[in-house]
Amino acid sequence: MTRIARFEHDGSIRHAIVESDDTLRLIKGDILGDWTASDETVPLAQVRLLAPVDPPNIIAIGLNYRKHAEESGMAIPERPVIFFKTTTALNNPGDPIMLPRMAPDEVDYECELVIIIGRRARHVSREKALEYVLGYTCGNDVSARDCQNRLDVQWARAKSFDTFAPMGPWLETDLDPDNVRIMTRLNGEVMQDSNTNDLIFSCRELISYLSANMTLLPGTVIMTGTPSGVGFARKPPVFLRSGDTVEVEIAGIGVLSNPVVAE
Ligand code: MG
Repeated sequence: MTRIARFEHDGSIRHAIVESDDTLRLIKGDILGDWTASDETVPLAQVRLLAPVDPPNIIAIGLNYRKHAEESGMAIPERPVIFFKTTTALNNPGDPIMLPRMAPDEVDYECELVIIIGRRARHVSREKALEYVLGYTCGNDVSARDCQNRLDVQWARAKSFDTFAPMGPWLETDLDPDNVRIMTRLNGEVMQDSNTNDLIFSCRELISYLSANMTLLPGTVIMTGTPSGVGFARKPPVFLRSGDTVEVEIAGIGVLSNPVVAE
């Protein structure tokens, strides 16, 4: 298990290995290139964690769990459904998700396993796909459902309001992405509880398919889709409200927690 966190330290942004006693061992070099562990340490409790990378692209996959496609009233896709979130939507562990002034009423959570690409990938086979992965983290594909389902044709705006892409708390390099439990809790209540073994397109398939269509730059994040239990499909629907706390937990990685506030 190697966990790598990103954070502010003495006015600069640094990466560090999260050691088992919650000590951060600072990294020298570039986690997307050559790096080594340094002798310098900082207690985890003394830093403010950031999303584990500052990605050049945020690629997301829709309708990638069978039961979620069903609850959304959509057909099981024949090939991955690709969309993008803006990089300005990136959000940090512990930082608030803002209910946007333009669309505050139907903001929803989506727990997702996030792949972090470690090296440039183009036309990569399924067999070799995981060699291009630096690690995995927890993500929340926050979505304004009124924009997504009624007001707009494309999902871009619904998925890209500022703060709508929380990621963290760190990346984990050693994980079997095909078999991990993934959950969302809203104010402590379990809303989504699934396993990545229900993914329609596995992480290997996604990396191979995406890289056949576009270059995956180092640091690119791929949000792999959400399981069933999202708020808009519930009866009655559940949407995020100011004062709520959303937690995404993935076994083997950790818990990504964000409060919800009005813009
Ligand atoms: Mg999603």
